[in-house]
Amino acid sequence: MTTELRKAAFIDRDGTLLEEVNFLSRVEDMRIFPYTSEALEALKQNGFLVIVVTNQSGIGRGIYTEDDMHSIHRAMESSLPELIDNFHFCPHLPDAGCTCRKPNTGMIELAKEKFAIDMERSWMIGDKLLDIETGFNAGTRTALVKTGYGAGSAENLVRRPDIVADDLLEAVRQIISE
Ligand SMILES: [Mg+2]
Ligand SMILES: [Zn+2]
Repeated sequence: MTTELRKAAFIDRDGTLLEEVNFLSRVEDMRIFPYTSEALEALKQNGFLVIVVTNQSGIGRGIYTEDDMHSIHRAMESSLPELIDNFHFCPHLPDAGCTCRKPNTGMIELAKEKFAIDMERSWMIGDKLLDIETGFNAGTRTALVKTGYGAGSAENLVRRPDIVADDLLEAVRQIISE
């Protein structure tokens, strides 16, 4: 008997699920996009795990603490109940040489082990070039959203994502219609 592999949506946090706030650290500054809940519900109904993968170098820079970040993630979980399966974060500085900071695949590899994920049926969704490169590096499909930094990213792509969408909900609609 073989283990059945799951499909996952790996989703960037800032600028994709939440409005972009530079070095977001306080729950009162957190703004979940109005369509985020609907988008995640659609993914769950279509059998996707929802896994947040976020670079949080503000921790490494000493701008905010890991506890501050966990407060944001708890607030997301209470506003989006049962819709997020896991959070993975990289707290390191960009030049630290870690394997978890996107576009490295450390966070995705961890989730892949934990949940037994089929990368070929999975997606990386985000607003930055590094999100798209993470998906290519991990062997997932890729979707760029034009929220956050996404409008600028669309003009500077190294490799062309499978989907370029106005926002997360539009990306999800395209993903589940395939
Ligand atoms: Mg982002
Ligand atoms: Zn890291």
